[in-house]
Amino acid sequence: ETIGANLDRTAAAHGDREALVDVASGRRWTYAEFNAAIDEVARGLLARGIAKGDRVGIWAPNCAEWVIVQYATAKAGAILVNVNPAYRTHELAYVVEQSGLRLLISAVAFKTSDYRAMIAEIGFEQTIFIGTQDWSALTSAHTDLPFPELSFDDPINIQYTSGTTGFPKGATLSHHNILNNGYFIGELLGYTPEDRICIPVPLYHCFGMVMGNLAATTHGATIVLPAPGFDPAASLRAVAAEKCTSLYGVPTMFIAELGLADFAAYDLTSLRTGIMAGSPCPVEVMKRVVAEMNMNEVAICYGMTETSPVSTMTRRDDSLARRTETVGRVLPHLESKVVDPATGLVVPPGEPGELCTRGYSVMLGYWNQPAATAEAIDAARWMHTGDLATMDSDGYVSIVGRIKDLVIRGGENIYPREVEEFLYAHPDIADVQVIGVPDDRYGEELMAWVVMRPGATPLTAAAVRDFCTGRLAHFKVPRYVHVVDGFPMTVTGKVRKVEMRTQAVEILG
Ligand code: ATP
Ligand code: MG
Repeated sequence: ETIGANLDRTAAAHGDREALVDVASGRRWTYAEFNAAIDEVARGLLARGIAKGDRVGIWAPNCAEWVIVQYATAKAGAILVNVNPAYRTHELAYVVEQSGLRLLISAVAFKTSDYRAMIAEIGFEQTIFIGTQDWSALTSAHTDLPFPELSFDDPINIQYTSGTTGFPKGATLSHHNILNNGYFIGELLGYTPEDRICIPVPLYHCFGMVMGNLAATTHGATIVLPAPGFDPAASLRAVAAEKCTSLYGVPTMFIAELGLADFAAYDLTSLRTGIMAGSPCPVEVMKRVVAEMNMNEVAICYGMTETSPVSTMTRRDDSLARRTETVGRVLPHLESKVVDPATGLVVPPGEPGELCTRGYSVMLGYWNQPAATAEAIDAARWMHTGDLATMDSDGYVSIVGRIKDLVIRGGENIYPREVEEFLYAHPDIADVQVIGVPDDRYGEELMAWVVMRPGATPLTAAAVRDFCTGRLAHFKVPRYVHVVDGFPMTVTGKVRKVEMRTQAVEILG
């Protein structure tokens, strides 16, 4: 099935139910209205000469238009190119060029956006600017324009990876890839047309557009967009006002929501479930989300852009320990294995190795980067994730960290994640990240960056050492402690440890 055909079916079955709510602008669409708006935009694209396989970019923060354009490009057979809302001229130029963009759809209605100036700077003329109220630039009423014949294996989307570890790569995804992934996520969360999903995570990333939008529309559920950018208070206000049953976030978003001074004032009783994903999910934070946000069925998902994105996920009936300490088991119809990166052989249960994924959700390849594709996907179609993980004998996976973040101190392998989990238990620490910094004697030393809880005295390295001594092997105790207000982040909410390491080298002189 294609994304368009699937949406037509949902709209036929649940036409009068709400599909989309844009809280910031107060607009709402039923499934019948939503599908009709999408058809108008799809025809608008065809009327402009956009043909099957043409790349159409969208560059805007979260807004209703984003969602409508997502489905309209799918119906018109165009390949949607998600352009990161935080990009500046240099990165925009790269994406326009690398994807061979024919048309860019951007928004002018957001006060933070100087998109128009940047687009003028790179001289890309094929741009349509949309305001939040005015659709006329995009739509066409020519109902006689036929939609092209499409196959579910056609590419539909170029999603650039977060760029956490280097320059973003354009994962090329098909209808089949992302529609199925969205569908199974919705199935495992138990979505029905009664569900209302609050999506503060970026639409430009799979987390928003697949785990959010496609999980919703395959089940007749409602997409609720709280605000164009992430704002913890706006998210919780939207949950309360729209009686959302599900809330998404990367760990730092949940940390910010739980940390709101007036957290107790928000009515979160409508919540049932949600997803935490994108980066290591601290056990302490998961426990608080379950207990304090009423999200008894919240899931952890693990995945990457290249696998559309989710490959493993916790289930509602897993024990609380497994739902907070692991990233669950592989999704239906996908396979996972953990291998020794040196030999490629599967390691015994419980031993760390590189996680690999195979099945319907593995991308078609990186757009115009055959060498990078061949490096990531082997001849047997296994996607090598670059993540270190363990799998127990029941198939539950735990993420140990990225291979690139592994610290080797005096010959000992240290997984920063383990030290971070330990430090989260410190009563004065709100958030913590651990990196390796160069050291003459040991090769690398550990450095912890900590965000203090409100009112707490900044921690010293000696205080952290005292806290760890006797409870953590001596070589895992951070040598340096750096108190910060936050970490360098990608727009998808991932901590940029590469950037932290660069800054650390400067700080340590
Ligand atoms: P780039 O590939 O450009 O460096 P990126 O890998 O951060 O960026 P994404 O595809 O957005 O880009 O993120 C996928 C990565 O996020 C995974 O490879 C993994 O390292 C991390 N990740 C995702 N979910 C989880 C999770 N639940 N627990 C731990 N790590 C996670
Ligand atoms: Mg990656």
